[in-house]
Amino acid sequence: MKNARYAPLPMLMLLSVGCAQLPSRCSEADFAAEPKIDVHVHINSGSDALIEQARADGFRLLTINVDYPDFPPLPEQLALARADAQQHPDIVAFAATFSMQGWDDAGWQGRVQGELDAAFAAGAVGIKVWKNIGMEFRDRAGKLVMIDDARLDAIFEQVRQRGKVLIGHQGEPHNCWLPLEQMTVNNDREYFQEHPQYHMFLHPELPSYEAQMGARDRMLARHPQLHFMGAHLASLEWSFAKLAKFLDSYPLAQVDLAARMGQVQYQSNRDRAAVRAFFIKYQDRLLYGTDLTQEAAADSGTMRKEAHQRWISDWRYFNTGAIQKVTELAEPVPGLELPRAVIDKLYYRNAERLFGQAWKAKQSRGAP
Ligand SMILES: [Zn+2]
Repeated sequence: MKNARYAPLPMLMLLSVGCAQLPSRCSEADFAAEPKIDVHVHINSGSDALIEQARADGFRLLTINVDYPDFPPLPEQLALARADAQQHPDIVAFAATFSMQGWDDAGWQGRVQGELDAAFAAGAVGIKVWKNIGMEFRDRAGKLVMIDDARLDAIFEQVRQRGKVLIGHQGEPHNCWLPLEQMTVNNDREYFQEHPQYHMFLHPELPSYEAQMGARDRMLARHPQLHFMGAHLASLEWSFAKLAKFLDSYPLAQVDLAARMGQVQYQSNRDRAAVRAFFIKYQDRLLYGTDLTQEAAADSGTMRKEAHQRWISDWRYFNTGAIQKVTELAEPVPGLELPRAVIDKLYYRNAERLFGQAWKAKQSRGAP
C-alpha cells in the first residue's frame, strides 16, 4: 500500500518541515527547509553577504582561519571570525590557526599554545593546519617542516585535551603533481595556473604526494585520540579506495568535501554505483563543505549568488538523479540520489557531532 506510506505527507508539508521528516529521499524543493551546515568557508571581510545567504538558504557555517598569504593577516582573520560568531551565533562558528613565524625560537611553542587557548576561550571549535606545513615553511637550517614534526605534537595534544578538532589540509589534490593538461577538473587547473608556487609538478625537488600523505598519516597514528577533519577529502579526492582505507585506518578522522565536488563528480561519471556506495558506507565520516570565500572586494550580490548556486547545485547532485552542468567538468553530471538518512548526516548530523554546540540556538543571542 504505497499510498498509506505517504499519508502523513500533506500535514508535514503544511508545517513546513524539511525532508528529514519525509519518507526516504529529499527533492530539490526540500533544499531550504533541511537543516544544513557548510563546514568549510572563509569569511575574510566584514561583509555579511555570505552569512545573509546562509540564513536565507538554511545553512550554518564554519569559517576557518588559514595561514595563507592570499588571506588577511591572522590577527585580522581571527577578529573577523570572533565578531561574526558573536553577532550571528546561530549561523557562524569558527576555527582558528597559528603562525609558523618564530618556529626556531625556544618560546614559539609556548606562545602558540597561549594563543590557541585564548582562541578556544573566545569560542574556536578547532584549529586548522595548512599546506604551508610540508610545502612552504622552512626552519632556520632551510629544512621543510612536515606535519609529523615532533615539535608540533604538544600543540596537537593540546587540541585533543581541550576537546577541539584539528582541521588538516596537507598536501594537495593529486592533480597538483600533474601537468595542467592532465588535471581532471577545471578548478584545479585554474588554481595551479594562478598559483605556480604550489603546483608541485613544477617543483620536483619538493616532497612527493606520497611523502605528504605519509607525514599526515604518521602524525595521526601518533595521536589516536585526536578528532581530525581532513579538509578537501584529506587530499585523497582522486581515489575513493584510498580514502576508504584512510578512514578505516584512523577511526576519529572525518573528511570534508570542500572544493572537491568536481573530483567526486568526475569519479561518479565513471562509476556512479561505486561512488554512491562509498557515500552510503562512510555516511558517518563525511561532512559537507564548499570553500566559499568572502573577500573584502567581493560584491555582496555576486557573493550571495555564488553561494546559492554552489549550494543548490551540490544539493541537486546528492539528492536527485537530475543531470546538470557543473563548472568543474566538461561533461554533464547525473546526481547520486542518496537516501535521506545519509543526507542528514552529510549535511548536519556529522558536523553537530564533531563540533558539539558550536552553533547556538537563536534565542541565546545576547546571552552572557
Ligand atoms: Zn579552504
